[in-house]
Amino acid sequence: CGIVGYIGHQDTKEVLLKGLEKLEYRGYDSAGISVLNDNGVHVFKVKGRIATLRDAVDEDVHATMGIGHTRWATHGAPSKENAHPHQSTSGRFTIVHNGVIENYVDLRNEYLQGVQLKSETDTEVIVQLLEKLYDQKGNVSEAFRKTISLLHGSYAVAVIDNEDPDTIYVAKNKSPLLVGLGDNGFNVVSSDSMAMLQVTDRFVELMDKEVVIVKREGVEIQKLDGTRVEREHFVAELDA
Ligand code: GLU
Repeated sequence: CGIVGYIGHQDTKEVLLKGLEKLEYRGYDSAGISVLNDNGVHVFKVKGRIATLRDAVDEDVHATMGIGHTRWATHGAPSKENAHPHQSTSGRFTIVHNGVIENYVDLRNEYLQGVQLKSETDTEVIVQLLEKLYDQKGNVSEAFRKTISLLHGSYAVAVIDNEDPDTIYVAKNKSPLLVGLGDNGFNVVSSDSMAMLQVTDRFVELMDKEVVIVKREGVEIQKLDGTRVEREHFVAELDA
């Protein structure tokens, strides 16, 4: 239903929770965030309200990047297990996803034989596929683009890699997703500019089947073949 992401220098859990609160009006059944710091990735998720998620988040976990999600269940009942973020088997990759992957059963049968899934979601198939393709290719950007190219359906996704605290990977098709530009060493992602107006009003719109490599110092939009795309930002205005 809603996606937020932040990479910068501030305490990330607060930016993500505030962003998710701004998306609450859209409706949701569960929510979660993942933040990455020197001790690894920390996942907090709950069935229910952002207020419940806030209580579940460990106040002592400080991190400067992470992703968050409000879920409106389409595949798998509303539950803590099915709430996002979802992780690959090794725990290396963590994902949030809006939308529906129409070919997730085919992808599971073709690529994920023998992989034990932990949820009933279509979303988990994406992150497990990424791990599989990474094992074959040894390059995360390439494995991410390949993963995205295999998906049919609607998606806005944001992914973090435990081994790389300097990057958030995002992609979209038929679901809204924006990259927000910060002016002093941070950038954000969001399915709705409203969630991130708390930190910036400059956003770049993404087109279907584009991926973006989001870092603290800048963002790089790519097509699925890896070629670079240049696009100007716009300034979002608060609705009266
Ligand atoms: N299809 C995914 C799920 O059921 C994402 C739903 C959403 O957009 O919130 O978990």
